Amino acid sequence: MIIIGFESSCDETGVALVCTERGLLAHALHSQVAMHQEYGGVVPELASRDHIRRILPLTREVLAAAGMAAGDVDAVAYTAGPGLAGALLVGASVAQSFAWARGLPAIPIHHLEGHLLSPLLASPRPGFPFVALLVSGGHTQIMRVDGVGAYQLLGETLDDAAGEAFDKTAKLLGLGYPGGPALSRLAQQGVATACELPRPMLHSPDLDFSFSGLKTAVMTRVKSLEKAGGRLSAQQRADLAAATEAAIVDVLAAKSIKAMKQTGLKRLVVAGGVGANSHLRARLGQAMAKLNGEVFFPPLDLCTDNGAMIAFAAAMRVNAGLADLSDMRHAFTVKPRWALADVCLSAAAP
Ligand code: ATP
Ligand code: MG
Ligand code: FE
Repeated sequence: MIIIGFESSCDETGVALVCTERGLLAHALHSQVAMHQEYGGVVPELASRDHIRRILPLTREVLAAAGMAAGDVDAVAYTAGPGLAGALLVGASVAQSFAWARGLPAIPIHHLEGHLLSPLLASPRPGFPFVALLVSGGHTQIMRVDGVGAYQLLGETLDDAAGEAFDKTAKLLGLGYPGGPALSRLAQQGVATACELPRPMLHSPDLDFSFSGLKTAVMTRVKSLEKAGGRLSAQQRADLAAATEAAIVDVLAAKSIKAMKQTGLKRLVVAGGVGANSHLRARLGQAMAKLNGEVFFPPLDLCTDNGAMIAFAAAMRVNAGLADLSDMRHAFTVKPRWALADVCLSAAAP
């Protein structure tokens, strides 16, 4: 079965074609990062309008890349939530219209389930069960994953997400939006031990996180350095970037290892934009080797939002018998707020 998937929950427009037997066939992506940069963050209205401009050309592009026509598609998938309502509506409307026009089922997909299953697009592909560290711009969660739809939340951030911590600190250091990748690049020139930053909740007995204190600690540090010497030097900024990255990676790694020990599982899967961080990748690789386990990441270009993970999650649901292919109502409904537990099999719901 050929599934076309649409992603438009935030500032990336993504379209992809996945075959339920053969996997990913093609995907096309447009990031709005450059457009939102001058505002220092995503402007929802601009995001929706840009999704409208991009989504049909991307659809043509992805069909051409796979050597297919619209008539070859058997089902449609789209991100139904969570995300920005107006942005979600663009993908949902196009997906439902495509499905309605061709008499196809439309499968609503939870954005986080897309992220969560995206490491299965890489090779080698992790088998179930595994522990998942989901580190994106809006979420930081540790889950036990026993199969498609069998997700058990083990811990999560009590305030800011890891990606948010990267982005907010980057902003403090004058590094544009989204600052994660830029902060990580700057960190390469810095010395992490040059300034001491807290590791929030590192030793707490649970698998929860808290990153908002880290951002405050960096702000305090920036202010005191500025007070002492005016503008921060290039080296001071690089040192702060390195110290921030080290603090975030330390906590993410420690809690992941704790989750491996607690569950007794040997496979760790990392998903979401922060999963692109090379420091985190290296650290988790070493830690899992020590535990005689393995760590899996999505392909680098599929860590942040994309259509491939949405079409792929739909294919996994179809293969597991969890997609309702008889639903032909084609309602334009989106869920800006939507708990992942709502798409879990009831037995595995937290
Ligand atoms: P959510 O999926 O929770 O709604 P989102 O879709 O905005 O949030 P993603 O697209 O998965 O999140 O990830 C974006 C985040 O990843 C941003 O916070 C960005 O700074 C961060 N990020 C991307 N690359 C890196 C990197 N190399 N190092 C650190 N952070 C990174
Ligand atoms: Mg994004
Ligand atoms: Fe995302």
